[in-house]
Amino acid sequence: MQLLQRLFETFHNAGRELYLVGGAVRDLAMGASWESLDDLDFATNALPRESLELLQKAGYRTYDVGIEFGTVGTIIRGPASEGYPKDVQVTTYRSKEKYRRGSRHPVVSFGDSIDEDLCRRDFSINSIAMDAKGDYYDPYDGRGDINRRTLRAVGDPLERLAEDPLRILRIARFMAKLGFEPDAQLEHAAYAKATYLLEIARQRWLQEMNKLVCGPHAAMALEFLARTRALGVILPELVALVGLERRCPAGPSHPDFWAQTLKRVERAGKDRNLSWAALLADVGRPWTRTLEPMSEDVPGPILSGLSQEAYPQEPAQGAVTSFPHHQLMAGLMFKGIARRFHFDNPTSDHVSFVLSHQRAAIGYDAHSWGDAEVRHFVRDMNGEHEAVIAFGKLLGPEEPKAANADLDGLAARIKALGESGQLVPELPKGLGGQFIQQLGLKPGPVLGELIEQIKQDMLDGRLGFGLDVEDYIAHARTLCLGRP
Ligand code: ATP
Ligand code: MG
Repeated sequence: MQLLQRLFETFHNAGRELYLVGGAVRDLAMGASWESLDDLDFATNALPRESLELLQKAGYRTYDVGIEFGTVGTIIRGPASEGYPKDVQVTTYRSKEKYRRGSRHPVVSFGDSIDEDLCRRDFSINSIAMDAKGDYYDPYDGRGDINRRTLRAVGDPLERLAEDPLRILRIARFMAKLGFEPDAQLEHAAYAKATYLLEIARQRWLQEMNKLVCGPHAAMALEFLARTRALGVILPELVALVGLERRCPAGPSHPDFWAQTLKRVERAGKDRNLSWAALLADVGRPWTRTLEPMSEDVPGPILSGLSQEAYPQEPAQGAVTSFPHHQLMAGLMFKGIARRFHFDNPTSDHVSFVLSHQRAAIGYDAHSWGDAEVRHFVRDMNGEHEAVIAFGKLLGPEEPKAANADLDGLAARIKALGESGQLVPELPKGLGGQFIQQLGLKPGPVLGELIEQIKQDMLDGRLGFGLDVEDYIAHARTLCLGRP
């Protein structure tokens, strides 16, 4: 706190106000320690240029956050034991801002007082200020709501959500993070304004959803989104999972896929990509649902994702519902979701791959998989084997097959093979040239095929790793002679 006193004095000595605001004050009021806070937001009545000058004159190195939005940034350094360095952003008081439809940035207008600044904030728990003495200024009883574990709008909820509908996702995001519930008026307003989310820039959807999926209470947040219809607006693919098991009348009873999804997301913890995969792993099921065997008198293609009448009234004896290729379907659907949410391309490809291969690791069997099978797995996973294994572990609690697969054992074997240079086939440099000289081959497709075959033989365990050049030539000779 001492290092921060100097920051307060920097502003006070120039006759300006400065308050700590936003998430840091909320977290402190909830009992977080100073050391645990990394990002500190301050509000001041100094205009942005003046804040910049005051900070620089006092020797703070500033960085640009967006001075046109009123914010100046600096990093305060200090002992690591007290949680330094801390990222500090000083923002000029704002009055109510508007987001132009679909824009990522607000239209900013500056305000005159801390009261004005606090009243434009979203929820009471986020509208508390703290002064240099560490005293709270809490005009909306944010601390009362913290005690009640409640999210309450500052002002009229219907107006506040209409003004910036992203706040509907922010409700869910803070539910996921804190485990708080919105009060009845706020939830009703979210229900009423859910479709207004369509006005909002998708990048802003993604920012909030990235935090939501990683939250320890993500399940209650997702249920809130489903109840208020917001989930149907941003992720209709998930809504189709609700009640799906009741539309699978034949065969062994199916789990409640939606409930299973909610638990899986929470199990995924703070790994963002894994959490998205956990959320969307089952979205291919409604669209691949198939009754097997189909009775012969099915009158044409009547299966569909949502309808109750998708099956013949009386399934054949012993018929079961299955979901052929639902993983590939989920991978495909994720590409569309990623475009909608403006995921970057590498992340989109990564999560889509994990979804398409979500069950690839749980087939692992320590007894029947030799080194060749382990190598094949790694090759087929195309650089994504760690993520696919992590996803397989996530399935453990919901599926005996996954629970029984020793996936830590698989990871250990991959590591050991990698360390001993026996994971990915690599041939000695210049081997192609040797083949040309010693076997009388010409450069071209035949030579290429020969080299591929040798790598395949290493992968399959028919040929060792790290052999002498002579051994590879001898092996190539047998291949050329057409002998095994
Ligand atoms: P976290 O610790 O998860 O970052 P935070 O409270 O700091 O939580 P931010 O999204 O970083 O959340 O926003 C900082 C503060 O700015 C909030 O506490 C809130 O007071 C205000 N705020 C942010 N976005 C909005 C919004 N869309 N409408 C109203 N106030 C907002
Ligand atoms: Mg923040």
